[in-house]
Amino acid sequence: MLTLHSTITLNNGVEIPRLGLGVYRAEPGPETTEAVLHALDAGYRHVDTAAAYRNEEAVGAAIRESDVPRNDVFVTTKLWNRDHGYDAARAAMDRSLERLGLERVDLYLIHWPVEGLRRDSWRALERILDEGKARAIGVSNYMARHLAELFDHADVLPAVNQIELSPYNYRSRRDTVDLCRDRGIGLEAYSPLTKTRKLDDPPLVAMAEKHGRTSAQVLIRWALQQEFVVIPKSTNPARIRENADAFDFALDSDDMAALEGLDEGLTTGWDPADAP
Ligand code: NDP
Repeated sequence: MLTLHSTITLNNGVEIPRLGLGVYRAEPGPETTEAVLHALDAGYRHVDTAAAYRNEEAVGAAIRESDVPRNDVFVTTKLWNRDHGYDAARAAMDRSLERLGLERVDLYLIHWPVEGLRRDSWRALERILDEGKARAIGVSNYMARHLAELFDHADVLPAVNQIELSPYNYRSRRDTVDLCRDRGIGLEAYSPLTKTRKLDDPPLVAMAEKHGRTSAQVLIRWALQQEFVVIPKSTNPARIRENADAFDFALDSDDMAALEGLDEGLTTGWDPADAP
């Protein structure tokens, strides 16, 4: 049975908790620190930040303040676009570690497939893995063709690919999803709540009512049943708890098919399909 502490074993043996707290657009400072502390208190053991979110210090502060031991919390951060390149990426990792106040992260991701430099950056991440500054390395916003390019030169395959995934774009992204599944690359679903845009969509609301749940919980449950790692963002204590309460009900195959039918190619941020 899936629980809040269930993990997926990545292709290098590292275990990643199935549910994490996303902190994109959580304000640097107390807002982020409080959100992470609430999440740890609610049983989350996974936090997803990035250099670009400017809240790594606040995430690190929460981990130090919490009673939960550091090694029980899975921490992800990401390389931002202006820091691509072999030397620049290695220096950016060191700055992230310093801001987080950690000796290593659990997962370091290339945030975006920056044209021209992403190959050198991947080499830097391989070195970072080797040096033990990250327990696993991966990519984000890599579509099938970015992955195919990476397969040509990588010594280490990415442990994960973090992309936008919800029922509202799953079918449109099947080529990337299937490629990752075939190659043993874990999938992380970002913006799993569609940044709230679809929470009032009538078919989703109807399904939530049928299960006595909220739309957000149905979307999180859908992602869990797809075997994705899912990282909803909230800074609101009640919603942080609500989002973790998706482990004691199940969607049946009709529900899953109906949700898949909601695909409309939704992209709530930059569309990596446009990245050369
Ligand atoms: P989400 O789909 O997680 O939606 C977040 C929004 O939903 C916030 O406005 C939040 O508000 C609201 N919300 C949260 N829970 C509920 C609920 N139960 N009911 C109603 N509203 C709710 O969007 P994100 O884009 O933040 O994605 C999640 C995480 O994924 C990010 O925080 C980040 O870590 C990662 N990400 C990665 C990207 C990448 O390029 N790699 C890009 C985008 C996101 P409130 O806080 O007030 O609850």
